[in-house]
Amino acid sequence: MAEPDGVYALRYAYRTESVRGEHFYGHDPDCLAPWPIDYYIWAICRGDEVVLLDAGFTPDEARRRGSRPYLETPAGLVRRLGRSPAQVSAIVLSHLHYDHAGNLADFPDATVILQRCEYDFWRSPMGSRGAYAHLCNPADLTELADRQRRGLLRLVDGDWDLDGAVSGHHVGGHTPGTQVLRVAAERPVVLASDASHFYENIDADRPYGVVHELAGMYAAFDRIAALAGPDGVVVPGHDPAVRARHPATPHHDGLVHPISYL
Ligand SMILES: [Zn+2]
Repeated sequence: MAEPDGVYALRYAYRTESVRGEHFYGHDPDCLAPWPIDYYIWAICRGDEVVLLDAGFTPDEARRRGSRPYLETPAGLVRRLGRSPAQVSAIVLSHLHYDHAGNLADFPDATVILQRCEYDFWRSPMGSRGAYAHLCNPADLTELADRQRRGLLRLVDGDWDLDGAVSGHHVGGHTPGTQVLRVAAERPVVLASDASHFYENIDADRPYGVVHELAGMYAAFDRIAALAGPDGVVVPGHDPAVRARHPATPHHDGLVHPISYL
């Protein structure tokens, strides 16, 4: 049975062998404290149409990196919503880190929407230098180039509108072209992805540990808050607390978390 129209956080993997010091900028007094994280994608379902924010890493990539138990592919998660991967019309990529930009081949006809400056950065020599190299999977760039050849890559600059109810907003900070999605609803939803990995980043004004531009990361927090407004719902990118704040629907092994019904 299909889940109702709505915005969903879909958990596809997790990591428990992770400490707080990996995740917060600068020295943290509790840097060695365990800090498990979740990996999500997000779906906006309206009738027969599905828009995804991000596409996760693949099971192969999880095996290659290790310590990342894999729960379900994004295509499998879309099927759990009662939709087919062919109904995914667009995949918005918040940024091109490996845990957000894999699995595109499972949605061969979807248009991918990405900030142009993000695409340009990871294809430049700097994108494969030193600490940057392990953050982006070259196979994902190859897939994006193929999408571009087929006319299925939409490169955007700044803020953009999908259809009046869903809009994208360039915030930067974490990467050059990090963007967030806003969904108009009774309480607006801002899918922050890695512009705020955890509630603590935005709530306590604590930047994440992987920073492209620090002032931009703070400005991203301000932008997210403004987009949400006083009644809005902000959904961070990797916080296990999302599961408690937005309890899972039955019958889906705790992987499908409704954020808002539309
Ligand atoms: Zn991430």
